[in-house]
Amino acid sequence: MSDIVATLKILKKSFPNPGAMELGSPYQNLVAVMFSARTRDEQVLKLLPGFWKAFPSVEVLSKATTLQIEARINTIGMYKQKAKNLKKMAGDVVSKFDGKIPSTMEELVSLAGVGRKTASVVLVCSFDKTAIAVDTHVFRVTNRLGWIKSKTVEDAERKLLEKVPAKHHQTVNRVFVKLGRYICIRSPRCWACPVREMCAFKKKNLVPPKNANEILEDIEKREKNLEILRENAT
Ligand code: SF4
Repeated sequence: MSDIVATLKILKKSFPNPGAMELGSPYQNLVAVMFSARTRDEQVLKLLPGFWKAFPSVEVLSKATTLQIEARINTIGMYKQKAKNLKKMAGDVVSKFDGKIPSTMEELVSLAGVGRKTASVVLVCSFDKTAIAVDTHVFRVTNRLGWIKSKTVEDAERKLLEKVPAKHHQTVNRVFVKLGRYICIRSPRCWACPVREMCAFKKKNLVPPKNANEILEDIEKREKNLEILRENAT
């Protein structure tokens, strides 16, 4: 357990920025996370200012047609399905939750297009509740670190909720999404990993490539760019 907390503390220092979809209001946060499924964060963040202009609230969104929503989001993957889910989600929030994005896991996952991962991000970022959103990065990195041995995200979420002390739950997704995106990629860059000494992965790649500096500069640039886009997306 002390290793887990120490690892999270190091990663928090290495990746101090909020998650890319940690935005403004619960409505904005929920919609952004729904958009981000199988879509690059940069693409989502770029379309958000126009989207908020067209649909500034869940009430306005609930009155839009699916076609109107599609027209605003057709630059991202699965936009037709996402538009359908958004319309249904907004209608349900208005009719069942008095126009307020709900703040419990049970209520959130009752909404169209909202699974446990999306709900967990919203619970953490908008309502300051403890939850662990397990996406592909969190799943891969925590398995490699040796924190869990899981074959499914459901099992990983359950084990992580048990293993990680509750007051650190909120940090897990924030730091591992970034570590997984930049360093602990498919062929991991262990040579650049700030927590390699605490990692159980057996096939560590510890030799920096010739263009190591370029890679590190590129990571820094991507992270800065993401943060600028995030700040402009509300
Ligand atoms: S040491 Fe390597 S495998 Fe372990 S978390 Fe870091 S990048 Fe991933």
